[in-house]
Amino acid sequence: MKIVDGKALATKIRAELKEKIAQLDKAPGLAVVIVGNDPASQIYVRNKIKACGELGIRSYAYELPATATQAEVENLLDELAHNNDVNGILLQLPLPAHLNTESAMARVPFEKDVDGFSAQNLGLLTLHKERVAACTPSGVMKILESEGVALSGKHAVVLGRSDTVGKPMAMLLLNANATVTICHSRTKNLQEICKNADILISAVGKAKFVTADMIKQGAVVIDVGINRDANGKLCGDVDFENVKDKTSLITPVPGGVGPMTITMLMYNTYLATLKE
Ligand code: NAP
Repeated sequence: MKIVDGKALATKIRAELKEKIAQLDKAPGLAVVIVGNDPASQIYVRNKIKACGELGIRSYAYELPATATQAEVENLLDELAHNNDVNGILLQLPLPAHLNTESAMARVPFEKDVDGFSAQNLGLLTLHKERVAACTPSGVMKILESEGVALSGKHAVVLGRSDTVGKPMAMLLLNANATVTICHSRTKNLQEICKNADILISAVGKAKFVTADMIKQGAVVIDVGINRDANGKLCGDVDFENVKDKTSLITPVPGGVGPMTITMLMYNTYLATLKE
């Protein structure tokens, strides 16, 4: 059994990326837009801006008040869409409840959608013509690749079908020739399906949801979940201590998939710059 060191992998990828960025004629530019003062979002934005600085990506932070109107948000996104210094636009979600997220996101041109959340980018991924894919699933693919996990013909089970994690994850695995089963809250015989998985990826958002009796001996288990356990400690979806010895490879929480997400955002910003 091997426990993946997501932090070490993220550090390695960032070092490689920094070198690639240094070779570009013009540094990539990433605009990060945050509306309101959700504390978790503010931390995410700060970390993204910090990562940009470390990698040589120009960053532009825009903070709009929680009272911003739909028109104010969309006018800013339109401006950024036309700004040649901006290669990537990230609209930090969630937006305050009075705003229409779908309509705001539609103002980000798919060429600058470094989150890979737009309908066009999800469509291109489904057609196996992806430009960029969502950061967290892309980070999982990087982990699998770097650990030499063969995917072709393997049974991959994805728990969760969100547009930002589960669905793009399943598409990336399908595009890599895995046989993919997607499970969700209405799935029957979940335990049986998981038990058949060569690769099990959990993105449910429930602590200790994946238990040892759901794991096939020697399976690869990737835990995307970020939860708090009964003691308030950060944990994933997988009952790590009881599951780990049945696996051939497992990601911990924290320190597994998490560190890869911002790294893949940086990578997607670099890709958007190359493809402009
Ligand atoms: P989400 O939008 O809430 O989706 C959760 C998915 O889990 C849904 O598809 C839901 O099914 C399914 N689900 C819920 N209960 C279930 C059950 N009992 N059996 C089977 N499926 C069930 O969450 P998300 O945004 O995809 O995120 C999932 C987790 O990943 C969260 O813990 C989140 O914090 C974490 N996350 C981590 C990162 C990272 O950087 N590591 C990034 C993004 C998200 P239905 O569709 O039927 O409701």
